[in-house]
Amino acid sequence: MSDTSNTERRRRRVKRLKRMIVGTFVVMITFPTAFSIYVGCKLHVTNNNLAEMTSQYEAQLGITGELQEKLSEEIKQREIAEAEVAEAAVSINIEQHEEINSFVEQDNTKKVYLTFDDGPSIYTGQILDILDQYGVKATFFVTGEHSDYEEMFKEIVNRGHSIGMHSNTHIYSEIYKSKENFEKDFFAIRDYIMKTTGVNPVIYRFPGGSSNTVSATDMEELCRFVEEQGVTYFDWNVSSGDATSQTLSAARIVANCMAGINNYQESVILMHDTSAKYSTVAALPVLIEQIQAMEDVEILPITEDTEAVQHKTSE
Ligand SMILES: [Zn+2]
Repeated sequence: MSDTSNTERRRRRVKRLKRMIVGTFVVMITFPTAFSIYVGCKLHVTNNNLAEMTSQYEAQLGITGELQEKLSEEIKQREIAEAEVAEAAVSINIEQHEEINSFVEQDNTKKVYLTFDDGPSIYTGQILDILDQYGVKATFFVTGEHSDYEEMFKEIVNRGHSIGMHSNTHIYSEIYKSKENFEKDFFAIRDYIMKTTGVNPVIYRFPGGSSNTVSATDMEELCRFVEEQGVTYFDWNVSSGDATSQTLSAARIVANCMAGINNYQESVILMHDTSAKYSTVAALPVLIEQIQAMEDVEILPITEDTEAVQHKTSE
């Protein structure tokens, strides 16, 4: 009996031990595996989240970069705009300043330029004497065909008047035949004036004016050529009328000139110094006296700084 119960008890203990060993084994294998699986899953999820977060972060960084770029571009634009505004303000100031200056400097003095074309002639000496008598300086647009009056070229310069070119031959059909002809004639009169007076002439008057309609060559082309030589061409806005075929009286010449002077702030008066025009000489003292009797009028010689009166422009 006791043997049986002993065997039974041992069997049970072994059984219990077996169960314990199996149990322990199961616990030792299953639990870490399950835990590993769990941790693995968690890690995977976390990794996914991290990746998502990283990409979100990167996207945000990108947006921030774009924003920053936009912002700095905007700042740059604004700086440029501000600089432009400042610059404009400065130039407005300068303009206003100039306007104010010109307003201050602007006086109502009329300017009269007496110009004599076609000389020298037998009358040049008398004209120069009259001008001296009234203390007036004028402008002589001379031609080179009068080499008999070489002394007069010098007198014009020595007595302080302006000397300008009016072509060498004054023969329209020759000088206006072609640009080459005009150039040749231009250099001939320029060289002649330089040789006789020592002055390099810088003003020119086209025979017939820049608006003449007889020239066979485009006048704009000739105007351009003259300017390219550093020479300014002057036409006139007041004609004395002394070159009309019918000889005008001195009184008529004076009246024509005075009408023009009354009309303009700056008058460039066309007169002639030729052997055929004594009435110009006769009109001159009366004309000067009438001009000098006016208030705020001055008679001046044309210089390169004089604002040009031009019928035709080279543009
Ligand atoms: Zn002429």
